[in-house]
Amino acid sequence: MSQPCQLTESEGSILSLPLKGLDWVTGGSSTRKIIPPTYSSAEAALIMRNALNLETVPLIFCRQRHTDRIHVVRERTELFAGDTAGHSVIDSCDGLISPVAGVALAVFTADCVPIVFVEEKHRIVGVVHAGWRGTFAEIAIRALESIGAVGGDTRYLRVWFGPAIGGCCYEVGEDLAGSFANKFRHLIGLDGAFLSGRFLDLVQLNKLQLVYAGVPISHIQTSGFCTKDSVDLFYSFRAEGERAGRIVTLVARTK
Ligand SMILES: [Zn+2]
Repeated sequence: MSQPCQLTESEGSILSLPLKGLDWVTGGSSTRKIIPPTYSSAEAALIMRNALNLETVPLIFCRQRHTDRIHVVRERTELFAGDTAGHSVIDSCDGLISPVAGVALAVFTADCVPIVFVEEKHRIVGVVHAGWRGTFAEIAIRALESIGAVGGDTRYLRVWFGPAIGGCCYEVGEDLAGSFANKFRHLIGLDGAFLSGRFLDLVQLNKLQLVYAGVPISHIQTSGFCTKDSVDLFYSFRAEGERAGRIVTLVARTK
């Protein structure tokens, strides 16, 4: 996973996961070129799944609530009962983890941080939605715990951060900035700042949480895109308000 992320036109303008060499996993983040802003979550996720040539793979996503709850998908049959082209919605969670082959997991964002997890040895995949609430509640750590609960090992984990609002653009109130500085003071000085005045870098903070929990820093990659600065490519709530569509970030274990 050392290659930089790139937009691949051949896949219909998708920001692909940098997972060269792994033939059992695929995924990435959608751009606005393939998903109109008016589409529902289900419509958007199905377009993204099909754009990745996963038409026959069942799709699972959360009814997201800015929680730190992760749902573990342990059984493919429980969810679909033969309807392999359909989708299944898990209520009130903001992350999905699965060791099961043949499922596609998706989250929706527009400035919040999409995080993809791939545990190479045991073939566990996951995806998380982390806004400021989820980041404050350390949903990335909850994902690590869920990966561990299904037999995963942090040493074999690869993590990818999709497009999200950057520390360059994400200004928060003084009280909130203070709460983050206080709760995460053990991460200050670890490897780059997550807070600059009132500008909060959510990607950096999630990354530092994972490094602190034992994920090798060389196993973590970021897309490098700030959604507010790159609103021509992605969606940004801060730039567009309610008119913003949703970025779909999807990961699938295909075999
Ligand atoms: Zn920015």
